[in-house]
Amino acid sequence: MARIGFIGLGNMGAPMARNLVRAGHAVSVFDLSAAAMQAVPGATPAESAAAAALQAEFVFTMLPEGRHVRDALLGAGGVAAASPEDAVLVDCSTIDVATARALAAESGRFFLDAPVSGGVMGAEAGTLTFMVGGDSTAFAAAEPILAQMGRAAIHCGPAGAGQAAKACNNMMLAATMIVTAEAFVLAESLGLSHQALFDVASKSSGQSWSLTTYCPVPGPVPGSPANRDYAPGFAASLMLKDLGLAVGAAQAGGVATPMGRRALEVFEEMVEKGGGAKDFSGVVSILRGL
Ligand code: NAD
Repeated sequence: MARIGFIGLGNMGAPMARNLVRAGHAVSVFDLSAAAMQAVPGATPAESAAAAALQAEFVFTMLPEGRHVRDALLGAGGVAAASPEDAVLVDCSTIDVATARALAAESGRFFLDAPVSGGVMGAEAGTLTFMVGGDSTAFAAAEPILAQMGRAAIHCGPAGAGQAAKACNNMMLAATMIVTAEAFVLAESLGLSHQALFDVASKSSGQSWSLTTYCPVPGPVPGSPANRDYAPGFAASLMLKDLGLAVGAAQAGGVATPMGRRALEVFEEMVEKGGGAKDFSGVVSILRGL
């Protein structure tokens, strides 16, 4: 049993914290929203982020963006200064690499960036994948706790490496989904059935996760969001956020990512046209309209 602080009880944080309570840890929780504070039965509500961190061995943050994490950890009454000197701060939010590195340098505590893949369903089922950057001793200490919220935790390297892995992975995912959806639209115009394209490509070199797990047209993969009018899943607005982080990192490093940039533009268009709350595989409708 560990003493754990958990800050940020939204769509992802609440089910993650519930899994820690279920695993028998003493969990102290804080969220700016009073309603969110009710979402983790069995946890102790704290009056502030700092109060949740006071005696914690591990403090998790699951917040929207880098500025929120910086504020919670280093702002007035922040978590870092309030936490014990040997506490491990684990940020599971998806934020920019530069902020993750800065927090590791400035927090004065062990800091791990540990963004996740697996979405709300993975958070609820305890099947998330954690991609982790930071000190290897801190990672070894946190790994058993991460295992209670996920099925894999990969140590990717020093501070920022977890966020770097997340940005690269989601840029690949976005571009792969777009081109898979494009192929189905092209097949429609060529009179090739969705099922025939799926049957061929899923056993050929066009195969990908976007095709075989998350097929963007209804039919071939019964569990994919396409079969429920693109209810997420993984919302297009979150994909756009992640592409912004990837393309921003590429710009900062002077790296050309032409496909990532184009993917960002396509998802910008989807969000502008009101599709931000739809699953990102709904991008197929945007492509049909181009
Ligand atoms: P969310 O908006 O549902 O929850 C964020 C919570 O943080 C809210 O309850 C909000 O009140 C709280 N909050 C904001 N600032 C705070 C502060 N300073 N102190 C305390 N609480 C504060 O977001 P989410 O969907 O849970 O996503 C969290 C992070 O996980 C994001 O970085 C997101 O990109 C990432 N992520 C989300 C998904 C997904 O499918 N939702 C998947 C993978 C990664």
